[in-house]
Amino acid sequence: MGRAETEVAILGAGPAGIAAACGLVSAGVEVTLIDAGTPLTPRVESLPQSGLALAESLGLADAIATATLGQAREMRMHWRVSPERRVFGVEAPLLLDRILLHRALGSAVTGLRRITARARILGPEGGRPRVRVGDCILTARIILDARCRAAQRSRAGLVALAFVGRQADRALPAMEIEALAAGGLWASTLPDGRVSGQLFLPAATLAGLDRQARHGLLHRHLAAIFPDMVLRPGAVAPAMLTAVDDPVAGPGLLRLGDAALARDPIASHGLIHALRSGGQAAVAVATLLDPACDPQAALAFLRDRHRRAFVAAQAATARAYADQSRLRSPFWEGEAPALPTQPQPWPSLSRPLTLAAPLRQVPVLEPDRIRWAHGLWLETSGEAVPRLGPISAPALAQLLTPPAPLTELSARLERAVGQAVAQAILRRLLDEGALASLTQPEVARSA
Ligand SMILES: Cc1cc2nc3c(=O)[nH]c(=O)nc-3n(C[C@H](O)[C@H](O)[C@H](O)COP(=O)(O)OP(=O)(O)OC[C@H]3O[C@@H](n4cnc5c(N)ncnc54)[C@H](O)[C@@H]3O)c2cc1C
Repeated sequence: MGRAETEVAILGAGPAGIAAACGLVSAGVEVTLIDAGTPLTPRVESLPQSGLALAESLGLADAIATATLGQAREMRMHWRVSPERRVFGVEAPLLLDRILLHRALGSAVTGLRRITARARILGPEGGRPRVRVGDCILTARIILDARCRAAQRSRAGLVALAFVGRQADRALPAMEIEALAAGGLWASTLPDGRVSGQLFLPAATLAGLDRQARHGLLHRHLAAIFPDMVLRPGAVAPAMLTAVDDPVAGPGLLRLGDAALARDPIASHGLIHALRSGGQAAVAVATLLDPACDPQAALAFLRDRHRRAFVAAQAATARAYADQSRLRSPFWEGEAPALPTQPQPWPSLSRPLTLAAPLRQVPVLEPDRIRWAHGLWLETSGEAVPRLGPISAPALAQLLTPPAPLTELSARLERAVGQAVAQAILRRLLDEGALASLTQPEVARSA
């Protein structure tokens, strides 16, 4: 068995792995990128415009453009009590060919070593992570695991059955969403009349069905929306929201993209998560490799962003499932996690208010490193924010001391940041339960 070393090994050349590779190569880090190179399940994926802006900041906008099949002009929501059409304006999402996307992303990064082989993570040796690649054991200072959902080893509760077809009368690039009693449907109609979509079903529904039975199932469920379509079933892929407990999988071993958190595609935006987590991982790795930085800041940052991404993914899933209003069934009501909690009730505003949110150390993403800063801990959001608007957390804490009625706190803040920003900050603090009214004895003591 051969042996080799590298500074950073990235496993998986999907959007997450490539975004990380781009950031690291441009920071001068020696990177080895390993991808299994097995044929991908073809599908069309949608990317909101915000994803394009993110890709641009990562230097990957051209790759996205190469993979774009068109912009969806509208979304047909058959799953509403009264079916709706949402016509998109300039914010229209892009429809991307997944195979073209991976190919274009692969060409977007140069200056690294590439290996086409299946990677298998081994236990660390001498505190360093290792991976087996073909007949070679590769040791790295850091390994980034971006091998998609398969790296999570979670049970697939929800799966997606891909299909393609052709429906001549659908000239617009558009998206269609529909609900089944136990499942959902997402399809994109492309400018050339092709239709590409997914039927989302509990894994048990497909178990044991051969190709012909799958074809029949698709036909039954799609007939109402695509009456004349000649369709072909494709591959089955796991599709439910799953996340690992900790993106730091071991010494020097970090997970990103779908390998850390895979979103339920009914709520979509997996590509944005993958690109963002790749960019964040690159800065975290640069921090870990820099002897002038605290490695704990990088790890705390990755854990914090992972937790936030999970909360956001749960909320997006809950919103998407609640958006379907035509059917009531355990699938739609039972599978979705609860919607996020409401803002805190405001305290009595007639009494002096005091800042109830403690200051904590938080890891903050700067352009090329992660560093510690003071942040206000906001209980309702479950996050510590280093600044609110233009004011840093310590400066805000100072402005809100000593306790005072809302009008006086507001006047202090307005002098610092103007009326509109001051009002927005106070509203956020009140919604977060971060301002508490003093009790009578506390008022007497503070007088
Ligand atoms: C059915 C379905 C529909 C979706 N639709 C959308 C959508 O419309 N919009 C959207 O934003 N997102 C969508 N997503 C999510 C999106 O596809 C993923 O979130 C995104 O591709 C994740 O990127 P990634 O880089 O983490 O993983 P992937 O894109 O899966 O890339 C992983 C890479 O790792 C490689 N690999 C795997 N195993 C190994 C190994 N052992 N060794 C080496 N290499 C390996 C693979 O070859 C691959 O290149 C959908 C997902 C599914 C399942």
